[in-house]
Amino acid sequence: MSTIAFLGLGNMGGPMAANLVKAGHAVVGFDLVEAAKQASAASGVAVKANAREAVAGADAIVTMLPAGRHVLASWADFLPGAAPRTLVIDCSTIDVDSAKRAHEAGAAAGALTLDAPVSGGVGGATAGTLTFMCGGSDEAFARAKPILEAMGKRIVHCGGPGAGQAAKICNNMILGATMIVTCEAFALAEKLGLSAQALFDVASTSSGQSWSLTSYCPVPGPVPASPANRDYKPGFAAALMLKDLRLAQEAAAGVGAATPLGAEAAQLYALFVAAGHGGDDFSGVINFLRGAGRTI
Ligand code: NAD
Repeated sequence: MSTIAFLGLGNMGGPMAANLVKAGHAVVGFDLVEAAKQASAASGVAVKANAREAVAGADAIVTMLPAGRHVLASWADFLPGAAPRTLVIDCSTIDVDSAKRAHEAGAAAGALTLDAPVSGGVGGATAGTLTFMCGGSDEAFARAKPILEAMGKRIVHCGGPGAGQAAKICNNMILGATMIVTCEAFALAEKLGLSAQALFDVASTSSGQSWSLTSYCPVPGPVPASPANRDYKPGFAAALMLKDLRLAQEAAAGVGAATPLGAEAAQLYALFVAAGHGGDDFSGVINFLRGAGRTI
């Protein structure tokens, strides 16, 4: 078992660090927020006064922070204090460019680095069933895999530096766009007098099938576990979907990729969030589409 420093003990990082403790690792942590520190201390994390103290003597360091600028600043702060060949894993969802820069900073400091964003949300973080999408060398991936297995059930090596972030935003661009068109189909069906169950029964076994439909159906009824059945409580908050769609647009602009539907999805979620629905599940956009039908 290893000594693991965990930086960023928020909604995701808190339960992830707790699962590392449960797996028998010695976990040393740091966060800027007192409540996060206290919750992690209660789950067995040895909380330190700052990041440098937390990483001293660690075999591996995990960061789970809001955005690219936080990751780059945090890595710049602790890398000088990390032992050579320390494994540094960033599990945050950040832009591909910052992820590559973090890898470069790590390499310059003699660390082994991996970008490893997750899907599965707070539920998956708590249950230890996250999917990790990893970018980095074979050696970094091989060393990280047993650590990530304590927090997730699927660990995928997507390629070199930045490939994990690329996989994450491409996947979530598909998710955002399919959710919108699934919502549009249910809203159209209502106006055509077709029942939601009938549309579900046909589309879920036909060419309209997708995860947005069969696992996360945006109307109550056909999929009892979907957020639509609990007044669109997340789940996956619309604000986080917007973040990922914007990262996809940034990446697309950077490499000159045409993503017109991804751009449209980002705009629609921006409107939804601006209207005060950032904390709703992203499938709640169906209510927005119903309401906007006359004006769009
Ligand atoms: P969060 O805001 O709950 O947690 C982030 C934590 O980082 C906060 O507690 C904050 O105080 C801390 N922090 C910020 N700067 C720091 C620093 N320099 N050193 C130490 N701690 C610092 O966010 P979250 O929901 O846990 O998300 C974390 C990352 O995971 C984000 O990149 C997010 O996009 C991604 N993500 C979230 C979900 C989700 O459902 N919440 C799902 C998949 C991916």
